[in-house]
Amino acid sequence: MNDAPKKLAIIGWPVNHSRSPLIHNHWLSAQGVAGEYEPYAIDPKDDFRAALAAMAANGFVGANVTIPHKQTAFAAMDVLSDSARALGAVNTISMKQGRFIGDNTDGEGFLASLDAAAPGHDWRQRPVLVLGAGGAARAIIAALGRAGVPDIRLTNRTRDKADALAGLADNLTIGDWQKREALAAACGLLVNTTSLGMQGQPPLDMALSGLARGALVSDIVYTPLQTLLLAAAEQQGFIAVDGLGMLMQQAALSFEIWTGIRPEVNDDLRDVLVADLAGDE
Ligand code: NAP
Repeated sequence: MNDAPKKLAIIGWPVNHSRSPLIHNHWLSAQGVAGEYEPYAIDPKDDFRAALAAMAANGFVGANVTIPHKQTAFAAMDVLSDSARALGAVNTISMKQGRFIGDNTDGEGFLASLDAAAPGHDWRQRPVLVLGAGGAARAIIAALGRAGVPDIRLTNRTRDKADALAGLADNLTIGDWQKREALAAACGLLVNTTSLGMQGQPPLDMALSGLARGALVSDIVYTPLQTLLLAAAEQQGFIAVDGLGMLMQQAALSFEIWTGIRPEVNDDLRDVLVADLAGDE
């Protein structure tokens, strides 16, 4: 294994708001891996592949990719993982011997966040309702399909955008946004991937009473950490899973791709992120 310090980055535009440097530098230090992870802005007007080549020439060996570059990165790769290919989007790049290898850890990170929050829960055997049809929903639906969920239900304010995701998983049905409460009937998992509930956005307006007893309610929004949806879920006896879980777990899978080490997602890291988020309030 190459023991040169690992130069890693998060590529975005803008990118300074990203929590990824905090997460990865925490693990580099905790795992005793020499290296540094930094924000790296690439202007969408620039040639993405040329910018990656310049990074590799400067010693970078890996990068995460965030808005607005996930699809552009997909098109710039030499090799793609199955999950990246299924989504047409890349969130993790490895740079090896002049080749760019693209992966996508968002969906598997989401599943890992549920397993960490509720080990052994039977949600995989029950219907699941996903709200929203943006980039995050795509990754989550594809992962739910790979996890073998028998009945995946999807709804989105703009119906056409949900319809466009029909091919992402077997057992996927699409329903009207106005009927979201009926669609939640007997679900063992409800996932909010819309931006409703985020700081500055209206809350998600939805009764939870139709969900299966003990269901998981996941909100991938993490500003604020406890959305009104999660507060209501807890109050009604459901298991609330906040968005930091997905953020940390997708990062852990990227870290493993670059270093071969699967870092522990623990309360130390969570505390670091919670303190950082509090600074934004
Ligand atoms: P996106 O592609 O822009 O999709 C946004 C989604 O929100 C769309 O489905 C959109 O519906 C819906 N939406 C927005 N305003 C709405 C409203 N007023 N009423 C109903 N639906 C509304 O965004 P994304 O990248 O998927 O991210 C979505 C959220 O997840 C963001 O809050 C982001 O911060 C969070 N996120 C968290 C993680 C994590 O690791 N925890 C990872 C990725 C994203 P329309 O199609 O009708 O516009």
